[in-house]
Parts: sequence; C-alpha cells; structure tokens
Amino acid sequence: MIPVLRAEAHWQQIDLLSDLHLGPETPRTLARLARHLAETPAQAVILLGDVFEVWVGDDARFAPCEHSVVQMLRAASSRLGLYFMAGNRDFLVGADMLSDCGMPPPLADPTVLEAFDRRWLLSHGDAQCLGDAAYQQLRKQLRDPVWQQDFLAKPLAERRAFASQARDASRSAQAAMLAHADLDADICRAQLQDAGAHDLIHGHTHRPALHDLGDGLRRHVLSDWDFDTASRGDLLRISAAGLERIAL
Ligand code: MN
Repeated sequence: MIPVLRAEAHWQQIDLLSDLHLGPETPRTLARLARHLAETPAQAVILLGDVFEVWVGDDARFAPCEHSVVQMLRAASSRLGLYFMAGNRDFLVGADMLSDCGMPPPLADPTVLEAFDRRWLLSHGDAQCLGDAAYQQLRKQLRDPVWQQDFLAKPLAERRAFASQARDASRSAQAAMLAHADLDADICRAQLQDAGAHDLIHGHTHRPALHDLGDGLRRHVLSDWDFDTASRGDLLRISAAGLERIAL
C-alpha cells in the first residue's frame, strides 16, 4: 500500500517543487525560495527532494547556510502546510531537522496525494531510474539503515569530507547519469496503477516535461532551481482546476 497524504479542507492550491540543491554556493536560489514561500497563494507546499545539495546529518543544521534554511522553513511552516520528501542528495534529513523547521516527518517515496477528488502520485524520481544499475546498487547501500547509522556515528568533519570527495569523484559520472538515465516507463505505469492515480509528479532528472505514458497516464517532471548561475526554476500547482506549470 502506498502511503496517502490527504489535503486539508482549506487547501485550494498546492505547490510542488524540487531540486533546489541549496548550499553555501546558492544564496540567490535560497532567497528565491524564501520569496516564493512568502508570496505563494498556495495553502500547502510539498518539497519533492534534493532541497539540499548535500545533507550529511542533522547536526549540520547549525552551520550558517543550513541555519538560514531552517529559519526560512520554520517561518513558512507557521503559515503553510509544508512537507518534505527526500531526494538522492538529502535522504539523511531526519526528525531533528524537520522538527526544528516545524515540519511533519518526511513523506514516503512514493506518496499518494489525495486532493480535489483526485489521486496524484508524488515521488523524487531516482528510484524509478532502473536503467542505471550502478546507481540503483549505490542507492540500496545509501538507504540501508545500518550503513546510515554507521555513517552518522562519524564526526561531522569526516562526513563532510566524505561527501565532498564523493561529489568530486562522481561529478562526471553524475553528469552522465543526468544526461542519460531516465525513469523507466513500465515501473511508472505500474506505480500509477497501484496508486489508483493518473498523474505522477517528480523531479530528479532536471528535465521538465510532460510525458504521455498511454492509457490516460502521465508523468510530469519538475525543473531544478538555479538562480545563482542562471535564472531557472518552476513548480507545479494543483487546484480544483487541475495541474498548472508555473515558471519563476
Ligand atoms: Mn535527485
């Protein structure tokens, strides 16, 4: 059974966004998110993963950049329904971080959103990239609770060094992955049928698009956000009228 998030009765618009890749090098993207959270007419905002470029454990939330994100999310969550689903970069965001942000525990991947008399399937998108066997193997290791416990027991500096090393070592591999790996259409159709939904909404690939999966099934891909080296970012807004893509 896929877990369900039920829209609250007063929600008239729900924003879905992902892949902000926030960190010390992205002050403008952070500011753009803060502005969006302050200005959106939506009553709920769901973050579909890779909010952070990297997350090595909740004790990192006291660093200057991470702390400013906590403050921003806490301010937003006092006015909005604010939800987080983990991506492949911030899967270690935990209960301490989310509770400091005034947010509920992370959404499972995938989750069914029940809103406006419809079911929408929400996911980050990396788990369905079945064509990349090496990545799926790595994902299995990184999501293993025993590996995570062992990793989180290391000193913060050591975890940071590990993360930046892994990032440098895999930068070209990741570029290749982003260029070629895409979600497997069969698993997307199977998950949609399982969920009793017609629309899958996800990020991860940084290739915003609407894909027709046949049989009335669709796959909506979010853009990543970059307001530091570019001016790029979008969101999908759900309301009683349906789904709308909004460029920022
Ligand atoms: Mn991702």
